[in-house]
Amino acid sequence: MIPKDHPRYESLMTREKLVEGFKQGITALEGLIAHGRGEAFDYILGERTRDFALKAEKTAIAMLLLAKNPVISVNGNTAVLVPKEIGELAKLVNAKVEVNVFHHSKERVERIANYLEKFGVSALHAGDAELEGLSSARRIVDRRGIYIADVVLVPLEDGDRCEILKRHGKKVIAIDLNPLSRTSRMADVTIVDNITRAIPRMIEFAKELRNFSKEELEKIVKDYNNKEILAEAIDGIIEYLERTKNLL
Ligand code: ATP
Ligand code: MG
Repeated sequence: MIPKDHPRYESLMTREKLVEGFKQGITALEGLIAHGRGEAFDYILGERTRDFALKAEKTAIAMLLLAKNPVISVNGNTAVLVPKEIGELAKLVNAKVEVNVFHHSKERVERIANYLEKFGVSALHAGDAELEGLSSARRIVDRRGIYIADVVLVPLEDGDRCEILKRHGKKVIAIDLNPLSRTSRMADVTIVDNITRAIPRMIEFAKELRNFSKEELEKIVKDYNNKEILAEAIDGIIEYLERTKNLL
């Protein structure tokens, strides 16, 4: 048991969830390592949602609301960290949820889908179509989901697939704490924030933006510039490090 007053309570609880997910065959061992990279970036961003992330989260919701066939892609880490919230967000923006993993096995995909089902989330996972040009298992998609999607939200994505999704003409929204990754640079909208904070914040934006007109939503998307957001995120890290250094 981790005591609630532990200064790193949130971070330790998140680790516990991932370890438990691993024991249940949902999180991949590699997923634990990927989380470590995310944590390191979160640390040097001050472990809170910054302005550049809020702008990206808002724009992402506008894009999802404007989409014809929006899909939220879920991997092992995402399933374990925010299962209930993914269901809530999908309902609010009328998106499908699809299980899509890098470390693939039919059993693992089914375990993730069954796990999500416990939280009331029905996730596509037929794996009956392929994204051409991608060698990793991420290419295996559902004909009713990512295959025909125009906008895909891909938390904790791999750079290769992000590139292929773009080449297939899809708009990509990434959640990645690393503003330097290929995923971050490739996506149309990059949310540099921890998924555990980003998805709940996006739910709040969805409740608000649902009442906006198409024109208002289009304006939000038009005014957004992902390069600027990534530059702000890098500046955010530099400022945080400078401030911390000056407190020594
Ligand atoms: P790329 O292929 O895009 O260059 P990478 O190979 O460095 O990225 P991957 O292992 O493919 O990274 O993907 C994991 C990414 O997910 C990392 O960049 C990490 O920062 C990010 N990440 C991990 N955990 C979280 C989290 N909880 N919230 C947000 N981002 C996270
Ligand atoms: Mg990668």
